[in-house]
Parts: sequence; C-alpha cells; structure tokens
Amino acid sequence: MQNVETGNAYYLSKFNQSFGDKPTEVRDTEHYKDEYVTTFVEKWDQLIDWDRRWETEGNFFIEQLRVRGVKKVLDVATGTGFHSVRLLESGFDVVSADGSPAMLAKAFENAKARGHILRTVQADWRWLNRTIHEQFDAVICLGNSFTHLFNERDRRKALAEYYATLNHDGLLILDQRNYDSILDEGYNSKHKYYYCGESVVAEPEYIDSGLTRFRYFFPDGSQYHLNMFPLRKQYLRRLLHEVGFQKIETFGDFQETFKANEPDFLIHVAEKE
Ligand code: SAM
Repeated sequence: MQNVETGNAYYLSKFNQSFGDKPTEVRDTEHYKDEYVTTFVEKWDQLIDWDRRWETEGNFFIEQLRVRGVKKVLDVATGTGFHSVRLLESGFDVVSADGSPAMLAKAFENAKARGHILRTVQADWRWLNRTIHEQFDAVICLGNSFTHLFNERDRRKALAEYYATLNHDGLLILDQRNYDSILDEGYNSKHKYYYCGESVVAEPEYIDSGLTRFRYFFPDGSQYHLNMFPLRKQYLRRLLHEVGFQKIETFGDFQETFKANEPDFLIHVAEKE
C-alpha cells in the first residue's frame, strides 16, 4: 500500500463531491455520477484544454478509424464532448453516450458553441443496449474512462455491451493510464499529462492494487478527486480477448513500440474479427 499524500489525513472535499468518512474505501462502479458533480464538470475543460489535447493527439484516432473504413462511431464516454466534436468535424457520423447527465449537458453546450448538434444518449455502459438500438462501425471509450469500473463483472458486462453494438467487422478503441508503471514504480511527476491543461495539477493521492485516488487542483483553489481502479495492461487485454475481440493492438502514448513503463497512456485498438 502506498500513500502519496504528503500533508494531513485524507479530508472530505468541500466542493460537493461526497466520498464519505473513508474516501479510500469508496471502490464502487456506481460512484462516478457523484464524482462528476456539476462544479467539477464545469472545470473539466480547463483540465483537458481542447487545443493542446488536439495538438498532442494529432490524427491518431482519426487515422485508426479511417484506415478501417469506419463511418459510424459510438462515443460511450463522451465527457464534455472533445472526441465527439473532433470526429464530427472530421466527417464521422457520431452518437455521444455517457452515464452522467451533467457531462452530456456540457458536451451538448460545447458542441453547440462549435456549430454542432450532438446526438446524446444517457446510458450506463453495463446496460448500453437497453438504450442504444443501432449498430456502429466503432466504439470509442477514451480519456481513461474504463477505470471507473470497480469489479470484473462490470468490466466484462460493459465490454460485452460494446461488442454487441458493433458491426461484425467493428472495432473498439479504449485507452487507460499506464497503471503498471504507477503500481510498480510509483507515480512520476515528470510524466506529461494526457489531459493537457497546464494550470491544473493532477496527481495521485493514494495508490494500492485496488484503487488509485487522483486529486485535481485548480487555479482558483478548488480541488476534486476521482477514485479509479488501476487496470493492468495484460489484464485488460485478456478481458478484451475473452469477450470476443480477435485482434488487439496496444499503443503507448500513440506509438506502436514503447518500453513498458514509459508511456503515460496505453491505447488498445480491438477488432471484432
Ligand atoms: N472521454 C472524455 C474525455 O476524454 O475527456 C471523458 C472522460 S471522463 C474521465 C470519464 C467519463 O466516463 C465520464 O464522463 C463519466 O460520466 C463516464 N462514465 C464513467 N463510468 C460510466 C459508466 N458506468 N457508464 C457510462 N458512463 C460512465
């Protein structure tokens, strides 16, 4: 067990999130809705800085989709809409889903400000096909979102739901923080952030094999937390295989070849056949 916090005991955030008396014991798939409270959602775009993220990513996702002839995409973790908007602007047909109504509302507003009307659907991944009745060429689950699932049953269920919504030759693109590196070597603050907002400090406050609790400091003094399950790379690749994906390619910080502990983020591109 590793305690990364340097200051006093863990405290309850005063800014509307509620983790109870023992925040490090909150290891619950349902809890994401309480974490993405409206005030945090309003600040999320400072954390991700759309322009810098656009530059850092380049055309990686767009090329992965185009090379496989993808036209129709389901963004299952829309958040504030960054990838949905990028894909719309690149000519893809996009449906934008998320389990958090606050996130979807912000995504809709962001897209509208850029001249798009998002097709939004509120849906929890575990029951995606109750609300989504269309088939897609690709599902994307980006921005380290899958980490919100805290038990294996939920992960298998969510992956099976993604799989079912894909056409026979469809693909899933799912990314994650490089938790192997965090768990095995500790968090390295030199790492550049995938979320690129410079004014926001994002760092883990607590790490053990079942929880990574990140703290986000904003310039106005506010701070928020996210409790996340540290997914190991091989474990996730195995789950992807076991739900039926035939070919899985894993990139490290958008590169095909990488040393295990170097990248901040891993991106799995999983093909159905
Ligand atoms: N993809 C966006 C980005 O990269 O900026 C958002 C990433 S944010 C870390 C994770 C998103 O996943 C949140 O919008 C949250 O509401 C959503 N989420 C987490 N668990 C979910 C679940 N079980 N079902 C549906 N959405 C979920």
